[in-house]
Amino acid sequence: MREIVPGSVLSHIQYGYLKVPKKIKSQCPSCSKSGEFLLKANFYQVNKTGLFAEGSCSLCKKPSVFVIMLNDDSINNGDEPRVYIYDPLATNGPLDEIQGKKRIPQDLVRSYRSALNVSQSKDHSATAVMAKRVLESVLKNFNGDKMNGQTLAEQFEHLPKNVDLSKPIQVLSHLVHPDSQFYKMLELEREIDDETAGLIMELLEGLIEYLFVLPERIDSLHERIEKKY
Ligand SMILES: [Zn+2]
Repeated sequence: MREIVPGSVLSHIQYGYLKVPKKIKSQCPSCSKSGEFLLKANFYQVNKTGLFAEGSCSLCKKPSVFVIMLNDDSINNGDEPRVYIYDPLATNGPLDEIQGKKRIPQDLVRSYRSALNVSQSKDHSATAVMAKRVLESVLKNFNGDKMNGQTLAEQFEHLPKNVDLSKPIQVLSHLVHPDSQFYKMLELEREIDDETAGLIMELLEGLIEYLFVLPERIDSLHERIEKKY
């Protein structure tokens, strides 16, 4: 679920004493463009917490599901109800990538899933507790049990010794070896089919993410968190 910010609600209708969003601008989960959605609320499905609504993207015409929160603090404060769009990618993100992978410890998947759940229900204390558990689980996976009594900071200091961060790069060196079939494709000495072209683009994406996007993202988050306190 992804929250729709109030500025993206283009119009409302009155439902009882409530102003319910009618037209919304949002990134579409199907075509990922910024489309407009005319919501058809299903008033029969009203329960105490929320109202379900469906709306089709103005661009790709594919339907999306929306939830309008009814028992929200914002309503008691006289504000408009919060609206969420069901966006499978926004919901699961990395969870989809780590679920069911053998190399990823199950307690990490569990604690990350819990962190995601509590953060979506806006329980900030529980989010902090689960975030700490995720960090501990990541560290334990690489450092092993022997560092159990140490602080998170100490464990992070040790992390680079126990995780081989250069491995993905070494794999690439192998892949682009002059004798490899992959290198021959890059040199146009070998034909490339649709699937391989897709794999090549995925590889570029992964490489750029690993070398540039991730370090930049962690730096910038570090800076924003430090600046706030
Ligand atoms: Zn769309």
